[in-house]
Amino acid sequence: MDNKKIWKAVLGELEVALSKAHFTTWFKNSFILSNENGIIIIGVPNFFTQEWLKNKYHGQITTSLKKFIPELKNIEYKVSTQTEPTIKVLDKNTVVVEEQNEQSSQNSSSEFNLNYTFSKYVVGSSNRLAYATSLAVGDKPGKKYNPLFIYGGVGLGKTHLIQAIGNEIKKKYPKKRIVYAPCEHFATEYINAIQNKTIEAFKKKYRKADLLLIDDIQFLSGKEGTQEEFFHTFNALYQTNKQIVLTSDRVPHAIPELADRLSSRFAGGMVTDIKPPDLETREAILKTKCEEKGYILDKEIIAFIAQKICSNIRELEGALNKIFTNIELYNIKPTQEMVARLLEDMITDTKRNLNPSKIFKIVASFFDIKIDDLLGPRRNKELVYPRQLTMYLLRHEVNYSFPRIGKELGGKDHTTIMHGVSKIEKEISKNEQIQRELSLIKEKLYL
Ligand code: ADP
Ligand code: MG
Repeated sequence: MDNKKIWKAVLGELEVALSKAHFTTWFKNSFILSNENGIIIIGVPNFFTQEWLKNKYHGQITTSLKKFIPELKNIEYKVSTQTEPTIKVLDKNTVVVEEQNEQSSQNSSSEFNLNYTFSKYVVGSSNRLAYATSLAVGDKPGKKYNPLFIYGGVGLGKTHLIQAIGNEIKKKYPKKRIVYAPCEHFATEYINAIQNKTIEAFKKKYRKADLLLIDDIQFLSGKEGTQEEFFHTFNALYQTNKQIVLTSDRVPHAIPELADRLSSRFAGGMVTDIKPPDLETREAILKTKCEEKGYILDKEIIAFIAQKICSNIRELEGALNKIFTNIELYNIKPTQEMVARLLEDMITDTKRNLNPSKIFKIVASFFDIKIDDLLGPRRNKELVYPRQLTMYLLRHEVNYSFPRIGKELGGKDHTTIMHGVSKIEKEISKNEQIQRELSLIKEKLYL
């Protein structure tokens, strides 16, 4: 196997294991510089990356490389450039993200991914309303749903949808000024504008937009100055009937440390959610992605992946990428056994890493309460529900016994735990809000 193929396979594994941002930041333009007698030298673009790979990702890189180079003895990292960027081979979506990152460092707003279109968006019961409202906005911006607020967990298609609106409007109304920015970019750009005294240019850029798309608006949380600025931007656009589209991981009023005047404005137009895809939609998505990339997988294999990987669509894509890389490497048609083996990590690894303190941390931060209060004796309404949810998670996700959960939760009686768990179990079947919160929390637990 040549070095290029090996590195491509390693990157394929790392991409699944890391967040998109980390992956692109640290592995962009990396490659195998030499491979002799079990000594591998990895070429990286700069000193900074060299340090990071060495100190932070060395373990993961080693594990992964070993699979392809069993005789591996040592890995070194060396600053070096090659003409052809490695990531380009990997997957089309990543490339554009790479370009976005470069752009953001120059502080202009990001271009959107040309692959994120309506026609490539698979519609099912979990996202139908979000899709339909986005379509309407793309058709006649500023007319019907303003602002459009789309919320849902990670990897469920919010960024795809908001950019699809951008792509559609760009096509239909080429003259309209479209400004797209992940919220973090907006915040950084604002702060830089203050420091560099370019605030007028900043204001002009955002307040003169015909269409403003801000992704992951929950990142305004706690940033008072940026909120203030965004409030004025919002008003300027809204008053002149310019379309605003926002995405978030939760409903407006549940974003912590967000000024009321903002959350009420966000909720003042159309608020729609995207839920985790059901089995049928997961199968449809897998089929579509296979066709797009020109691979054919048996029906049984598609069904198998759809059953095993249920959290979100990014994971489904990650699973497929793993399988595709394997097909490329060994040039054989995958069997279900092979697929099961390939996806083993994705299916079980996360469960193994789960422990009570992680659950406490994530539940507490989700509800914006202190861990001490979550575990403590106080019985306020704001504490009791998160506490019961914690009991439920310990029972169902780590299979602890009732007495053990009681112990973990600061010495509570097992009957209290039984009551809490069964309360949530009953509620889940009829309360959509709980279902949604639970799936958001689970996503965070297994990230
Ligand atoms: P989010 O912004 O909600 O975290 P993304 O929009 O980044 O999620 O989606 C993750 C990946 O899944 C992207 O590559 C996207 O193209 C794909 N995806 C999400 N939803 C769909 C869908 N309904 N149909 C096809 N692909 C989808
Ligand atoms: Mg997103």
